[in-house]
Amino acid sequence: MPESSSTTAQILDGKAISLAIQNEIKQHVSEFVNKHGTKPCLAAVLVGEDPASQVYVRNKERACERVGMDSVLHRLPATTSTDQLLDLVGRLNDDPNTSGILVQLPVPKQIDGQRVLDAIDWKKDVDAFHPYNVGLLSQGRPRFLPCTPYGVIQILYRSQIKTAGKKVCVIGRSDIVGKPLASMLIQKDSPVGPDWANATVTLCHSRTPDLADVTRDADILVAAIGQPDFVTAEMIKPGATVIDVGINRVGDRLTGDVDFESSRQVAGAITPVPGGVGPLTVTMLLNNTLIAGELQREVN
Ligand code: NDP
Repeated sequence: MPESSSTTAQILDGKAISLAIQNEIKQHVSEFVNKHGTKPCLAAVLVGEDPASQVYVRNKERACERVGMDSVLHRLPATTSTDQLLDLVGRLNDDPNTSGILVQLPVPKQIDGQRVLDAIDWKKDVDAFHPYNVGLLSQGRPRFLPCTPYGVIQILYRSQIKTAGKKVCVIGRSDIVGKPLASMLIQKDSPVGPDWANATVTLCHSRTPDLADVTRDADILVAAIGQPDFVTAEMIKPGATVIDVGINRVGDRLTGDVDFESSRQVAGAITPVPGGVGPLTVTMLLNNTLIAGELQREVN
């Protein structure tokens, strides 16, 4: 549960929110199994030996297990070519037992990652990176929502921090976090209702002038930059909600994009790192895998 005190910000506990959603997904998975006689299955593809990617993939496998889904890990050597990876993606697209396909990023340099992501069947695109899914989201009729941005919305929703009519500043315009989050927040509705859409969004990046003036104007500030402790107390409007998407390794410590200790003195609510947005990303992937399982039964 979120903690609060009179002098510092409410801490938005992503871990607890994530567990609550996983329990709901577990229930839906059990209904899915009763209805279809089979479990949703996530196929994860890991190319090479990147240690961080191995940890991420292992976490995703464990999460599948916790909610009663199947997962299959396909390991390919670091020397894999684009064609070899496309061949595996093609086989997973055709496999009726595979509900969702996840290619763990980054892929080694010799692989054309964009071609590979574009080749994933949009109905199995649980990361929501396929141009068709990005287009549907942009038009306000998504089938899959990208995991980290949807995790941010879930944190706000389950903490009853509405976005409708609010000024939201998102720092970072990546295709994975910043851009799709802004795209979700400007819509007229969201899967959790119109109170978690309808924001006035300013999307900032490295060429934004006078960044602190923009961030200080925001009721909700989201940092997705990849620079440790970049957002400081002076950049935050008193009482604002601060969502820190960043995960940065500094020595043996994990830190976000927000200087937590100074920022919590000013913000009204804030996510910690670790234990904020991170746990939600995996959970929303499970949610998408369940949706993918249902979607394939609708269309086949
Ligand atoms: P990218 O590197 O793809 O994008 C970073 C963005 O930040 C870019 O748009 C860049 O601007 C902008 N930026 C960089 N420096 C500045 C600056 N000085 N001022 C303003 N904007 C700046 O990162 P991602 O979106 O992939 O990831 C962002 C962070 O979130 C990382 O720490 C990553 O590890 C983390 N992350 C966490 C996830 C989770 O599950 N919690 C999931 C995904 C990412 P420009 O476009 O102009 O270069």
